[in-house]
Amino acid sequence: MLSCKTIEDFDLRGRRVFIRVDYNVPLDEAGNVTDDSRIRRSLPTVNYALDHGGRVILASHLGRPKGKPEPKLSLKPVAVRLSRLLNKEVKFAPDCIGSQVEEMVEALQPGEVLLLENLRFHPGETKNDLQFARELARLADVYINEAFGTAHRRHASTYGIVQFVEAAGIGFLMRKEIEYFERALVDPRRPLLAVIGGAKVSTKIGILESLLEKVDKLVIGGAMAFTFYRYLGWPTGKSLVEEEMVDVAGRVMKRAWQSGVKLYIPVDVVVASGLSPQAESRTVPCQEIPRDWMGLDIGPATITLFEEVISDTQTIIWNGPMGVFEMEKFKSGTFSVARAIGRSSALSIAGGGDTDVAISRAGVTDQISYISTGGGAFLELLEKGTLPALEILKGKGGSHEETFHSR
Ligand code: AMP
Repeated sequence: MLSCKTIEDFDLRGRRVFIRVDYNVPLDEAGNVTDDSRIRRSLPTVNYALDHGGRVILASHLGRPKGKPEPKLSLKPVAVRLSRLLNKEVKFAPDCIGSQVEEMVEALQPGEVLLLENLRFHPGETKNDLQFARELARLADVYINEAFGTAHRRHASTYGIVQFVEAAGIGFLMRKEIEYFERALVDPRRPLLAVIGGAKVSTKIGILESLLEKVDKLVIGGAMAFTFYRYLGWPTGKSLVEEEMVDVAGRVMKRAWQSGVKLYIPVDVVVASGLSPQAESRTVPCQEIPRDWMGLDIGPATITLFEEVISDTQTIIWNGPMGVFEMEKFKSGTFSVARAIGRSSALSIAGGGDTDVAISRAGVTDQISYISTGGGAFLELLEKGTLPALEILKGKGGSHEETFHSR
């Protein structure tokens, strides 16, 4: 059970509220923010801190600078956009640690905001260097982690810092992520279904094994399915198969049979002569993939099968496309599954990799109960049931005791 304090548990009046946000936003060549949804998602927590008299310090990474300043990855444009969204001035610090930053923080008044420069301009951030973490902690009376997207990382600003601050907890976005995760996997309404697709078994095996312990039904689509085909001795043509994962796929199948989990794999396949929008394509039954063809989507019979499975569930977890949905010819399986999940009255939680892109292209964003904001973090939470940045916050002391036990 994940339990930690939330921002509502602390008295913020006049205190330096250090919020680790995820402002890793896309920028164009001219340095303009091209998608500000990550900034918008932080607003409830930032506004809460401001409204409650906090002196708000925001810290984030942007891109992957190699431990030194890279002007193109400055968070300055983010300060400009945030200022517009908050409708108030956002001060910008030229660094994230050091005496000049400390002076700016000291000068900060209740209800004012200061955004620090990119944390990853220092090598200590990703190395979880304790000295760097200590310097960050010098800026904080209350530490709030709101960066779900990096919660699977043991970095100085998500992990190391916590041991040096007196009061630490999570923000509203982080709380929502945990709440939905727990509603889906800790105490779900059943039947519980997981729909897992994507390219490789190797990147999802931990998740498959962990889900097998919890779900009633498991649907497998995408290229992953062909490694299962290979285990069953079915022809796969030129489809993507991970030879070294064939035994692992067999293990997953056997465990599903033994534990009574209903496992569904595609019963027909859209095959093509090559991985190209111009390639010739047709549908074949599952055991008849021709030698020189590759499977690039689930077929219409599988769509019907998966729709039926989806319609008889109370809780659905979805990660990974059913086919190469980026190409017009091979998007139908993924979009049909997205729409079926959207139509279902079950609690539906999706995330990881391209799943959110597929959902938005299928036009069902509003019909999914919750779309996780964290790619790798969502997948690691599915697999391990917790995340380093949450673990370190567990049982962390602070004023105004009231620990958040989600659900
Ligand atoms: P993942 O990051 O593992 O979720 O994989 C997502 C990628 O898997 C997408 O870019 C899809 O195009 C790709 N994919 C899904 N099905 C297939 C398939 N049958 N053959 C090749 N690639 C696929």
